[in-house]
Amino acid sequence: MRIDLKGKHALVGGASRGIGRAIAESLAECGASVTLMARNGELLAEVCDGLPRYGDQSHDYIAVDFDQPDELRRAVNARFGVGGTVHILVNNTGGPPGGPAYAADVAEFETAFKRHLICNQILAQVCIPTMRAARYGRIINIISTSVKQPIPGLGVSNTIRGAVANWAKTLATELGPDGITVNNILPGATATDRLESIMNKKADKLSMSYEDVAAATRREIPAQRFAEAWEIAAAAVFLASPLAAYINGINVPVDGGRTASL
Ligand code: NAD
Repeated sequence: MRIDLKGKHALVGGASRGIGRAIAESLAECGASVTLMARNGELLAEVCDGLPRYGDQSHDYIAVDFDQPDELRRAVNARFGVGGTVHILVNNTGGPPGGPAYAADVAEFETAFKRHLICNQILAQVCIPTMRAARYGRIINIISTSVKQPIPGLGVSNTIRGAVANWAKTLATELGPDGITVNNILPGATATDRLESIMNKKADKLSMSYEDVAAATRREIPAQRFAEAWEIAAAAVFLASPLAAYINGINVPVDGGRTASL
């Protein structure tokens, strides 16, 4: 069995670094053409230049801020609303800031809701007609294990992740008859800038060293280590492939066994 994404086009959010970048690189490695999204055009150009190219693969990018959903709608419509096809949509963007739910300002919930759920909906609405026409669609949402087990100190994130997961499950049922699957990947602690920033804040708060916080976090994970971004990407590539056609509407934790439930 081989994963072959030749002839498929993927649209990947948060692709300038971390998990999104690893997914974009892995999809390209398997033959897909990729359109990258994030805010910083210079960084995106660098990532785009470095993507593998075999045969007639071509990659591009859209510099766009997911905190400006109308701007996102315009930019993605300009690229795909007029004849382009997206076979694989990876909904991924920066996570909300930390802090307990009770202390969060209402505006923080609104910002997170827009950046995650509203932007996912905008992207899905642009891509779904093209997926239907192609009779091939994969919508993959990068969420968090907090869908299954809320993470202390990530109040806004825990809340929004639940909404995105239920949005995805609803879509999976609606779109299944069109040959489109919708699945969620729930990364555990993954070695990216996001994890570093969360652990730095925790170290400050608890007056501990960064290394002590990192070591304590690793001990909570049965695998006793953080994931590498490519390990999250491996699950995304499989879900994006024809091999996963019968997997629809599920949560896939990629967490080294950390989540304390099935
Ligand atoms: P990261 O911070 O390393 O990368 C985030 C990416 O999103 C970057 O490309 C960034 O430029 C882009 N981005 C951020 N805000 C944006 C905006 N407003 N508009 C457009 N692009 C924006 O994060 P990551 O670790 O790769 O995480 C990706 C997702 O997975 C996040 O939602 C994160 O919360 C979630 N997650 C991460 C971990 C982890 O341990 N790293 C664990 C569980 C869930």
